[in-house]
Amino acid sequence: MTTRPYNFSPGPATLPESVLRQAAEEMLDWQGSGMSVMEMSHRGREFVRICDEAEADLRALLSIPDDYAVLFMQGGATGENAIVPLNLLGRRPAQAADYVISGSWSRKSHAEATRYGDISVAASSAEPIEIDGREYPGFTWMPPVESWKVRPESSYVHLCSNETIGGVEFMQWREAAAHAGDVPLVIDASSHFLSRPFDIGSAGLVYAGAQKNAGPAGVTIVVVRRDLIGHASPMCPSAFDYANVARESSRFNTPPTFAIYITGLVFKWVRAQGGVAAMDAMNQAKAELLYGYLDSTDFYINNVHPAVRSRMNVPFHLADESLNETFLTGAAEAGLLALKGHKSVGGMRASIYNAMPLEGVQALVDYMKAFEKRYG
Ligand code: PMP
Repeated sequence: MTTRPYNFSPGPATLPESVLRQAAEEMLDWQGSGMSVMEMSHRGREFVRICDEAEADLRALLSIPDDYAVLFMQGGATGENAIVPLNLLGRRPAQAADYVISGSWSRKSHAEATRYGDISVAASSAEPIEIDGREYPGFTWMPPVESWKVRPESSYVHLCSNETIGGVEFMQWREAAAHAGDVPLVIDASSHFLSRPFDIGSAGLVYAGAQKNAGPAGVTIVVVRRDLIGHASPMCPSAFDYANVARESSRFNTPPTFAIYITGLVFKWVRAQGGVAAMDAMNQAKAELLYGYLDSTDFYINNVHPAVRSRMNVPFHLADESLNETFLTGAAEAGLLALKGHKSVGGMRASIYNAMPLEGVQALVDYMKAFEKRYG
């Protein structure tokens, strides 16, 4: 049982308390080495073990096939917005790629990629749409896979499978892969990585900044099919060339050692909980609890199409927005932190990643109910 407040931050985000405690215990002396992990050579046998175990645990968690490399990189998911085109566009003479724009993060990915090649929009949900007689605002729905315009000459098609700001989650990876044919999917899975099983084999490349569901900021996880490696542009910085990073087991240059260590502890924690299947069940229960309540009242509103509601990031508005500050102040007093929505959309957002227990979501729903009773 935790005595800490429940932290609903979208990232950097709450981590399992046991991971933080273990890191604290090992801070001055990692397993009898006499060194903090922060003080070790990244080429010494201690850190090599930490890094190799992290990779092995991740491979086990996601059943990553052998023909995929696992890379621990720097630069964040924003860095990958450039690193991906710099590595992959050269696969085919057209130097082309297609982007599905389903929210703020995939829009940013697209904008960055346009600097490097012939980039086109495969589909976009930026505009409002009417579905089943109801109007959905931009970035609250997902363009159907069959509508995506994927050019056969493209080197990849990019999508974001969980839009952290809009709260839109997309899991039809297999359908998307079938639709794209020979054009591999590149997926930004930053904000739901390890929250559920992923069918890695349906994607060519999956990347995730660790600081939502997998660890602290500073390490970016890249899982990439090996045949996509080795096509980097001459302009690609060598530290960001997947071929170099893969060949050197993520130690081409000094990697973010402490972030990899903590991320490795989170991988072990997820395994001890029962793996991604257990996370899946828990996250399902948490999301049902929160959305179930949101749907039962007009006091709070979530606009996302039910088929693509994120189980990790739940944006909502108070129908009376003049109560926002009162809501947030009361929440903080009740030990419910970081519920303010992203500045671009306003309102509230509850990020309920793996490390958020069901009790935390229950505490939030209890607070929301009490608030509604008082001000509704
Ligand atoms: N993609 C997604 C889905 C994100 O949620 C974020 C961060 N919120 C990013 C990309 C950008 O990540 P970073 O700040 O690590 O570059």
